[in-house]
Amino acid sequence: MLKKLKLSFLNQLIGRKILIYWVVSSLTFFGVVSFRQEESDKLRTVVIDAGHGGKDPGAGNGREKRFVLDMALKVGQKIKANYPGVKVIFTRDSDVFVPLHERAAIANKNKADLFMSIHCNANPHSTKLAGTETYIMGLHKTEENLELAKRENNVVLLEENYKKSYKGFDPKSPLAHIMLTNFQNAFMKQSLSFASKVEKNITKVGHRSRGVKQAGFIVIWETTMPSVLIETGYLTNAGDAEFLASNEGREKISLAIFRAFEEYKKEIDR
Ligand SMILES: [Zn+2]
Repeated sequence: MLKKLKLSFLNQLIGRKILIYWVVSSLTFFGVVSFRQEESDKLRTVVIDAGHGGKDPGAGNGREKRFVLDMALKVGQKIKANYPGVKVIFTRDSDVFVPLHERAAIANKNKADLFMSIHCNANPHSTKLAGTETYIMGLHKTEENLELAKRENNVVLLEENYKKSYKGFDPKSPLAHIMLTNFQNAFMKQSLSFASKVEKNITKVGHRSRGVKQAGFIVIWETTMPSVLIETGYLTNAGDAEFLASNEGREKISLAIFRAFEEYKKEIDR
């Protein structure tokens, strides 16, 4: 009786061992498989930056900070729904003020593979200018681009100790903007590829594209991955302002950015 008991205990033990072995080995097997899948996906983390927020209203009396937050969240939702393996990080998901260098730091700290900053444009000299522009870091080719970069960078003046945070950078000085362009060179090719896809898809959703441009923006200056800044339209233009004020318009722009993301991911993961 005792022997029998011992035997059945031994059997149970062996059975349990086999079970444990099976569980462990299959876990390892699936673990290896999922690890390999992740390894082949190079675009795993994307940081979506809604420009401005909180005490920084952006252009158009606060319309910019509201519109860009909505578009950023829409783009993020589309990525999350279609690519559950991709980590989507927002620099802000509510109406709060985030300093520019912190936005870049969020992307760097999370080792993002792509950074996109979403904005609305404004031109004090013309109500006719309309359409989107996607910027990569580089030397501005026109005064207009320099003026825009200065306007978008001016927000650092709202930050305490901004001179310390930006190594003495003065957003009003043109020289500072030439300095800015020396960064991000390593990611130029990929940034340009994503930027071109954004502008191409913008035309497909029926919004006007003004193409890919270059200028020195602080927010994409300090990032250590391919980065673009998307100006989704001019709030100083009646047509663009109406388009961006409508949910349908913002939905279309978000869709264009999402499609660009899809195409870019496919290209990068290849
Ligand atoms: Zn802006």
